[in-house]
Amino acid sequence: MPRPIQAVIHLEALAHNLKIVRASAPESQVFAVVKANAYGHGIERVYQAFKQADGFALLDIEEAKRLRALGWTGPILLLEGIFSPQDLFDCVQYQLSFTVHHDVQIDWIEGHPEDAQFDIFLKMNSGMNRLGFKPVQYRHAWQRLNALSQVRHLTHMMHFSDADGERFGESGITYQHDLFEDTIRDLPGPKSVSNSAAILRHPLHSDVVRGGIMLYGSSPDYPTHGLHDWSLKPTMSLRSEIIAIQMLEPNESVGYGSSFVADQPLRIGIVACGYADGYQRISPTGTPVLVDGIETRTIGRVSMDMLAVDLSAVPKARIGSEVVLWGYSSTGVILPIDDVAAASGTVGYELMCAVTARVPFTIQT
Ligand SMILES: *Cc1c(COP(=O)(O)O)cnc(C)c1O
Repeated sequence: MPRPIQAVIHLEALAHNLKIVRASAPESQVFAVVKANAYGHGIERVYQAFKQADGFALLDIEEAKRLRALGWTGPILLLEGIFSPQDLFDCVQYQLSFTVHHDVQIDWIEGHPEDAQFDIFLKMNSGMNRLGFKPVQYRHAWQRLNALSQVRHLTHMMHFSDADGERFGESGITYQHDLFEDTIRDLPGPKSVSNSAAILRHPLHSDVVRGGIMLYGSSPDYPTHGLHDWSLKPTMSLRSEIIAIQMLEPNESVGYGSSFVADQPLRIGIVACGYADGYQRISPTGTPVLVDGIETRTIGRVSMDMLAVDLSAVPKARIGSEVVLWGYSSTGVILPIDDVAAASGTVGYELMCAVTARVPFTIQT
């Protein structure tokens, strides 16, 4: 028998979450963001559920090719743009739209054979200060691109740094959105501004929305809102089993470093899941976990292949009991990935991307 850990991908939940994106941005084209191998879910696994999207967005040309191999003929947007002039040949061959965020990329397009026809998302740096043209440079970049015969279509694009909350005590989006609207004021062309947090929290005009994390059942503004507040469903369940049971006497400890010491007799379960499976080693004692559908907590240090759980709330637990690290139990109880992430000092994004290659995936329809 294989080691009992597995990641279950829930197709119905993925399709449901896509519908929530649509309902939240009914006037917009919905691009499903599937970067990082669909936030760790696997592009091939989620594709069936996301086929109703208007487009896909990702970073790697290799991932774009996988979407084409699945039969996707609609738009694909490269969110970090092209990394070399050679990439433009792939953009032609695989019909890829891409972000332009730097003058050097415009030089490359200029130098490309003139029969190419590129769809470009011109990115403004509205304050995140990672990618894009600052407002004073943006219009010049737009004019340069607009004059090129290789450019078929231009979309104005920006990315919010604070759509999930506030910035300097004020709305997290107003300052960036105003700057953007001001800069593009009389330039023609559609706009793409919203990520998940903006889609859910701010009804903005965004001709193309780029929904990511909400598709995968994690709330972009947790803990202000949890997935239930946004009617989202978990899309990945990381499950394993109890493979051993120990009784701790007072002053006995469990795991490396003896970081957890029992102060009373304690029945604990040892779970076949560790950091080599992608469960975070920094997840401390007290991180929530489900055993047989009942919420309890991890105790002690997470090791490479195992972790320990407190069984006092689950007296019937035995070897073979189901353990849910996040997602759905097989009986339908939900442990939101955001709760596990918060206890671990991180976000759902990181947990779902961290599941390692040794964990077998299954798909549930
Ligand atoms: C990742 C990404 C998104 C999606 O963000 P979520 O918070 O996951 O919805 C949207 N736009 C850009 C440019 C991105 O890099």
